[in-house]
Amino acid sequence: MEQLCNISVVREVMERHNFRFSKALGQNFLINPSVCPRIAEDGVRDSEYGAIEIGTGVGVLTNELAKRAKKVVAIEIDERLLPILDETLAEYDNVEIIHADVLKVDLNRLIRERLEGMDVCVCANLPYYITSPVIMALLEQRLPIRSVTVMVQKEAAQRLCAQVGTRDCGAVTFAVRYYSEPKQLFAVSRGSFMPAPNVDSAVIRLEVRERTDLDVRDERFLFRVVKAAFSQRRKTLANPVSSILGLSKQRIGEVLQELGIKSTVRAEEMKFEEWILLANRLFEEKGHE
Ligand code: SAM
Repeated sequence: MEQLCNISVVREVMERHNFRFSKALGQNFLINPSVCPRIAEDGVRDSEYGAIEIGTGVGVLTNELAKRAKKVVAIEIDERLLPILDETLAEYDNVEIIHADVLKVDLNRLIRERLEGMDVCVCANLPYYITSPVIMALLEQRLPIRSVTVMVQKEAAQRLCAQVGTRDCGAVTFAVRYYSEPKQLFAVSRGSFMPAPNVDSAVIRLEVRERTDLDVRDERFLFRVVKAAFSQRRKTLANPVSSILGLSKQRIGEVLQELGIKSTVRAEEMKFEEWILLANRLFEEKGHE
């Protein structure tokens, strides 16, 4: 539908369907017409692309993706939006709506069955209450996707795209760097949404790495160590890591020093490569037990 991303059009469609926003589902719909084309253009690099959208709302971004991609598979949890989407996407025959909770969808299967042979991107204005779980689900499963272009809260964008070894960094930041090259694209003010949220937003792109060439002994062990360390980020790293591994704090301190890292280091001070060195070394001592 032309001009869908316009406050009076969105309002009219919603009123006609007697639709009320659900705060619990993170429903802040875009009404700034310049934002969706930019997200869609960033993800869909050519007309042979397949696109996955998470959370359609009334279909403003879905429209822009459908114009550019070969096929769009859009996942929406709120059943009340389905009759609205029938109307707003009526002109496209390359859109499939899946009524489901994205966190319960087998995305590998979805890509295999519905987007076979296509380069695939994920684009979304994410429901903010599940930003991290969705991003982790997209990356950890090593889905065959090229990129993830998503709108998130401004603070989440800073955290997700932070450098490892800085104060904004958390366990998710490490994972994002491990699986992708993150980049902040542009800011979006709160006035671009209906209803307007209390925070500003930003669009980020994660360019997914095909495979990592990092020398990691055991991925699951690495992420166990990183998550444990960040779970108590104010403490020295030796504390939480010693308790999950059953090694003494003193031994962890010695290992850190052997690697040229101070024994009192905190999680947020660790550089990317240092995490890998540390996890590999601890795995040799502990992981294979
Ligand atoms: N893309 C639309 C836009 O930009 O106007 C809507 C964005 S709105 C921030 C988030 C959307 O995600 C809502 O339509 C909401 O119903 C949907 N949603 C919330 N939780 C979901 C979940 N677990 N799985 C799939 N969709 C979900």
